[in-house]
Amino acid sequence: MLQNRTATLGFVPTMGALHEGHLALVAEAKRRCDRVLVSIFVNPLQFNNSNDLDKYPRTVEADLRLLENAGADYVFIPSADEMYPEGFQTATLDISPLDSVFEGAFRPGHFQGVVAVLYQLFQLIQPDTVVFGLKDLQQCLVVEKLIGKHFPHIEQINMPTLREKSGLAMSSRNTRLSPEGLQKAALIYEMLDDLKENVADFNKHAAAWTNKLKLSGIETEYVQLVALPDMQIPQENAVPDRAAIVFAGYLEGVRLIDNVLI
Ligand code: AMP
Repeated sequence: MLQNRTATLGFVPTMGALHEGHLALVAEAKRRCDRVLVSIFVNPLQFNNSNDLDKYPRTVEADLRLLENAGADYVFIPSADEMYPEGFQTATLDISPLDSVFEGAFRPGHFQGVVAVLYQLFQLIQPDTVVFGLKDLQQCLVVEKLIGKHFPHIEQINMPTLREKSGLAMSSRNTRLSPEGLQKAALIYEMLDDLKENVADFNKHAAAWTNKLKLSGIETEYVQLVALPDMQIPQENAVPDRAAIVFAGYLEGVRLIDNVLI
């Protein structure tokens, strides 16, 4: 694709159902590169839960309008057969310990699915720059490993999370929440912000917040202070130099994730 070119190419991989967060990545790619390509592919290999895959929002017509307005030059919407032709071989990549903690632990196979699709896409598209969102912090860390091992010439940019006015991280999955759910979900960022303030006494505050969220119908899967880049849990009351607070939980049957960097 796009061979023999002299212009630089920025690439933004997405699963569609686009929102302002995705468009901020497109804007950044445009700022850095002559041309921008956006892919829309709901990658079956990264869904460990078929219900989640079936319910994933698909809004291609609206996505194309948004991308045109955002100034994307190319949109690539492959089918699963195109992405994974019979007998396709994916790269092997050691992403430990990221495959056994947090998203890796709660979504078995998820990151190998992410690696498989990105390996195909990077080979096909041959971008100079790729832009990802820190909303999916652990994914950014996995992509760093993929690029380090197989695509060292690609520049990776990780962009901050765009949020609703309420603080809720923008996400395609938010469209599955009721209006009340959207209000309740704002508690997640309120919690992360407060935990960041009180990071020296993380465990005590996290326990209190987990209860508060539960009363609003949010079931916490994990809320944890972690050291970067390996997402290991620090010793009690130690705050690593590079750290984040990561969260995953369920509200109204929708799985939501968020994080803040420390
Ligand atoms: P997705 O379509 O959910 O696979 O996301 C495609 C890209 O958009 C990923 O790099 C995400 O991290 C990024 N992204 C999703 N939500 C946001 C957000 N609220 N702010 C910034 N980037 C985001």
